[in-house]
Amino acid sequence: MPEDSAGFADMGIDPAILKSLEEMGFEEPSPIQVAAIPALLEGRDVIGQAQTGTGKTAAFGIPLLQRLRPDMQRPQALVLAPTRELALQVAEEIGRIGKHLRVRELAVYGGTPIDRQIRSLRAGVEVVIGTPGRIMDHIDRGTLKLDQIRTLVLDEADEMLDMGFVDDIDKIMGYLPAERQTVCFSATMPDPILRITKRHMRDPVQVSIAREELTGPTIEQAYFEIRERDRVDALTRIIDHEAISRAIIFCRTKRSCDELASALQARGYIAEAIHGDLNQAQRNRVLSRFKDGQIELLVATDVAARGIDVENVTHVINYDIAQSPEAHVHRIGRTGRAGREGTAFTLIHPREFRHLKLIERATRSRIPRRNVPTPTDVAARALHLLGERIVSLVEQGAGEEERYAAVASRLLEEHEPERLVAALISTMADPRSTGGAGSGGGPELGRPAARTAGGGADFPDTGGEAGYVRFFVNIGSRDRATPADFVRTIARQAEIPGGLIGAIDIHESFTFVEVPRDVAQRVMEAMSNATIQGRNVNMEPAKPSR
Ligand code: ADP
Ligand code: MG
Repeated sequence: MPEDSAGFADMGIDPAILKSLEEMGFEEPSPIQVAAIPALLEGRDVIGQAQTGTGKTAAFGIPLLQRLRPDMQRPQALVLAPTRELALQVAEEIGRIGKHLRVRELAVYGGTPIDRQIRSLRAGVEVVIGTPGRIMDHIDRGTLKLDQIRTLVLDEADEMLDMGFVDDIDKIMGYLPAERQTVCFSATMPDPILRITKRHMRDPVQVSIAREELTGPTIEQAYFEIRERDRVDALTRIIDHEAISRAIIFCRTKRSCDELASALQARGYIAEAIHGDLNQAQRNRVLSRFKDGQIELLVATDVAARGIDVENVTHVINYDIAQSPEAHVHRIGRTGRAGREGTAFTLIHPREFRHLKLIERATRSRIPRRNVPTPTDVAARALHLLGERIVSLVEQGAGEEERYAAVASRLLEEHEPERLVAALISTMADPRSTGGAGSGGGPELGRPAARTAGGGADFPDTGGEAGYVRFFVNIGSRDRATPADFVRTIARQAEIPGGLIGAIDIHESFTFVEVPRDVAQRVMEAMSNATIQGRNVNMEPAKPSR
């Protein structure tokens, strides 16, 4: 940073908003915020372009909130967003930024009953964030009053165009007071957007954050050359080799999303597809499970995943290469959010090379080649990671040293340390993830263990939801176990889809896990020789506590 003239505090931002930004942990404005906020505060129309994940919401949200007249109880700002998820995300961000102002914001979108939205609108809100279709609906019903709107924002404008909202947007603009500020933010700026904005904007200030800055050094990229029939295998080896547990995988079509998600599930990965054929409730469920870490791999189409803000996505994988450089930039922007590091991999069939070159040229970046890891690479890597985990257990303390100290020192007196450690590793190594260490080593990667016969035993009341059996598991947060660990291990061991697993309630030294009654016996048996975070699992029916 040059000098501190680039701070939020020097931009003429209201102290109440500065306080929120501080609480949100925003240390300094992002480049698009530096470029757009001053002009917006002056009341100018602005066209802003910057890649996904660069903080465009706050770039328009801060000035929009600051320009509200307090206590008017009429909508004064309207934000149009392409999807329900994005509308909700914008509403949440605006809520956080406006926490210390007396502002009410409301997200309105289709697919949910309109009555509650009407009641909220009637109660008085200052900022309305909505999808164009539902906004039109409210305008037609007379439930959304537009006469006091001072600011209109088109967020993710390129996507709204892609989704065919042009006419709705034109119409909505026609209903707004002529005296207003019009703002348009987008990750890409194709011609049709510029045409719309020309029609509706007054002498707009254009700010655009150049692409090199966008893609930035925080996203590492590589491509893997594959043969068509090896696509799934190559993908799973890459996932295993990199130990990827939180990725978005892009496919070109809804069909291929479904197929790939099934193929991954069949190989024991916790994967779910998300695309336009799912209804809102399903999409929401998948998304929130991904956010909670209960799904590791989100297999998505471009439209379903664009603009979705999920933290800590470590990898974006282009299972099918993107259709355009813009789409590629959109996709890889799903990782490395807000300055965190991320990695983007692209699978390439030789006939797609031209496409890759196009992307490289348009983004002025070179995407280096990597070799698809072999099964041996994957096995070696898994052992290496196991070694690292052991070291971190030693460094951070496994939690029960006192309990094992006596046995440990006796073993060390009687045996060679190296042989002891090797024996321990072989008991910890999951034969499926180490390519068969200790089992003679066929590369049965990611394959679920042999199934134990299910059926039989009745479980008395265990305090679970109706239809579920609640289990007590001897592993908790102090073992650094996450919900994904439980879902993954249970799904792989018992060969059931991870999506079947119910509530997971992690405590410090134990966890309650609920599974459907009809697979409960099988899960309990299959888990009897499982490990989570290197510890042997003990799983037994819980006692009802409620
Ligand atoms: P975009 O709309 O450009 O895709 P978002 O507005 O969704 O990006 O922001 C992405 C993430 O970055 C959000 O979690 C947001 O809270 C965070 N963020 C935005 N601005 C800043 C900032 N100045 N400092 C730190 N984090 C920020
Ligand atoms: Mg956005």
